[in-house]
Amino acid sequence: MKILVVDDSGVQRKMISQIIQKAGFDHEILEACDGEVAIQTLAQNYKDVALVLCDWNMPKMNGLEFIQGVAKVPPVAQIPIVMVTTEGTADKIEQAKQAGSNLAGYIVKPFTPPQLKEVISPILAKTEFKVSGYDQGEA
Ligand SMILES: [Mg+2]
Repeated sequence: MKILVVDDSGVQRKMISQIIQKAGFDHEILEACDGEVAIQTLAQNYKDVALVLCDWNMPKMNGLEFIQGVAKVPPVAQIPIVMVTTEGTADKIEQAKQAGSNLAGYIVKPFTPPQLKEVISPILAKTEFKVSGYDQGEA
């Protein structure tokens, strides 16, 4: 599975990607520099994307417009989105919640690696295919 990291700052994208990898997730990381590119990337990869981490302030299409756009497209609308942004007021968080039913979490910058891990771990745990009590056919 894949994780899409959307941020107009290349440094932020790299930092988030490294935190995800160091936390032990083996997902392939896709990157997008704004909401428009993120929509295109999702259109090509939506079947494999387990999570989108999305900045708010970006040129062309910002994070709020992105989650509003994604919410209108049924196959993509199910993908959990976590906002990762400096916009940390209760108003902004509420605005993001109203914008898309797929908003699964909210992380305010600056954040620590454990904070990111705490938010994304339960989301990824839900989307991973798990087998329990597998009968391997051995006596
Ligand atoms: Mg930004």
